[in-house]
Amino acid sequence: MGTIATVSVPAVAAAALPAHRAEVACRFAEIEASLSAFRPESDLGRLNAAAGGEPLAVGSETLAVLAAALRAATASGGAFDPTVGPLMAAWGFRGTNQIDAPPMVAVLAEAHSRVGWTNVLVLGHTASLRRAGMRLDLGGIAKGYAVDEAWNRLRAAGVTDFTVNLGGNLRCGGQAAPDRTGWRVGVRNPFDTSQVLGVLILQDGEAVATSGNYERFVTLAGRRYAHIIDPRSGRPVEGLAGVTVLATTALDADALSTALFVLGPQAGRQLLRNYPGCEAVWIPDSQPARLLATPGFARRFVPQAGGEHRIEVLSE
Ligand code: ADP
Ligand code: MG
Repeated sequence: MGTIATVSVPAVAAAALPAHRAEVACRFAEIEASLSAFRPESDLGRLNAAAGGEPLAVGSETLAVLAAALRAATASGGAFDPTVGPLMAAWGFRGTNQIDAPPMVAVLAEAHSRVGWTNVLVLGHTASLRRAGMRLDLGGIAKGYAVDEAWNRLRAAGVTDFTVNLGGNLRCGGQAAPDRTGWRVGVRNPFDTSQVLGVLILQDGEAVATSGNYERFVTLAGRRYAHIIDPRSGRPVEGLAGVTVLATTALDADALSTALFVLGPQAGRQLLRNYPGCEAVWIPDSQPARLLATPGFARRFVPQAGGEHRIEVLSE
């Protein structure tokens, strides 16, 4: 999935770590075999190649992730759209398309015409993309799904205290023994990623995900563009440095971090009403850092002492 995975356990349980790591790596490899957009023989590769044609039989893993992606698209009014593939390519986010300036209006319009989640059909054990040239991109949700799957595996194996982190999508189990406090997860300063703005102390099973403009981006004509596309405009979202979401599953945290990056704090808060137990913070792309937090996020957040950043609590 183009990123790094980490499994953590309390030091007293370190002897079991290699076994946990093998278990998690194995589950991730299975998921990647179905869902990688870069492998022509994966379900996703086959669906993309067959866009505009007949429905294809796909595995239950693929069906589960597609269903989750379509739920996120419906809930967010299309801010989350798993068919942004053509726009990602047009903006140079896929290695195949090396550009040094923003795409021309006509190129963008053509790519935009091949985007739209309502043209994804899932029927029984088949799926299809209704228009030729459509491309699924599950980069905004697949890592969260994978983390939940790894979490379930470890729980089923009797592991109580652990975290699984896949490229900034983290879910915890139990506590960071021996002091029996919850796992502490830092929210990085997007303007200086060696620093944290503060920490969240997680309860058993909680997940955190961050979408930011500082890890994956392209620079076009001297300007930096984040790898999250606003499906309404067809352009990368500007104005935000990061969004961090606290949620009850890694899947929700991942999909929401992407959707809330697109929606911004005002519309984003409305979306969160449908997700009990989920909270978020938006960090605008200007310094010093301002944290626009939902009341529930602010209650859970322990700011780093001595920082210059300000926390502003969004009204209910
Ligand atoms: P990451 O954890 O890789 O930083 P995010 O969860 O922030 O990823 O999601 C960004 C990824 O989601 C992009 O790389 C792309 O694959 C995909 N994506 C971009 N824009 C959207 C969107 N509007 N809806 C759904 N997925 C998107
Ligand atoms: Mg995401």
